[in-house]
Amino acid sequence: MIGITATLYDASCDYRVPRRYADSVEEAGGFPLLLPASNTPEETEGIMPLLDGLLIPGGPDVNPLLYGEEPRPALELTKTSNDLFEIHALKEARALHKPILCICRGMQVLNVAFGGTLYQDIPSQLPEALRHKQTPTDRADPTHSLEIEPGSWLSEAYGNTQIRVNSFHHQAIKQVAPGFSVSAKARDGIIEAIEIRGEHILGVQWHPEVMIPVHPEHLGLFRQLVEASRRLSVAGK
Ligand code: MN
Repeated sequence: MIGITATLYDASCDYRVPRRYADSVEEAGGFPLLLPASNTPEETEGIMPLLDGLLIPGGPDVNPLLYGEEPRPALELTKTSNDLFEIHALKEARALHKPILCICRGMQVLNVAFGGTLYQDIPSQLPEALRHKQTPTDRADPTHSLEIEPGSWLSEAYGNTQIRVNSFHHQAIKQVAPGFSVSAKARDGIIEAIEIRGEHILGVQWHPEVMIPVHPEHLGLFRQLVEASRRLSVAGK
């Protein structure tokens, strides 16, 4: 049973999780359970022991005040209550040794939750960087290359150290949170994945869930999450 955090959008009164996240968990053999961002810290602490793993999906920018910076002009929509909910969920899941997969904004929240920082806007802060926001190109199209660290948990998911991925981010990791290692970079040096292999925690900057229907090798990330969650859950009973 994999918890997936659902972003609360006040303007439309919606909790929102793009369906490919939940579908990918199912395709990998897991059962997705949506966690509404209105959960109180006590509710999050109550539900986490019942879950086997946690998935943090994409979404808005992280409030830079949470990593000690003032907002730059190119910062986009932030939702502080959502940030705090997901940071609490991540800390609870890690304390309970639950496997964690974080995607896009999810990886950025993961890094901030454990003491890292972000570039608020790649084009204005790193003008020499590649194009990391491929809109309006098809979402499943790979548009830039990755170098994966050999021996990383990520390299096991793909069985390969050279892959191509899609890209829909204008923020990126600046300082990596203590204890995490970088498991993939783009050719411009932008950090595209971080992990703590021994704790089954992985964050990726691209969107594997939308690539899976066209490029099924990306399902490996979800299989790895579901299998680690099942293994640790059985071991704990
Ligand atoms: Mn990218």
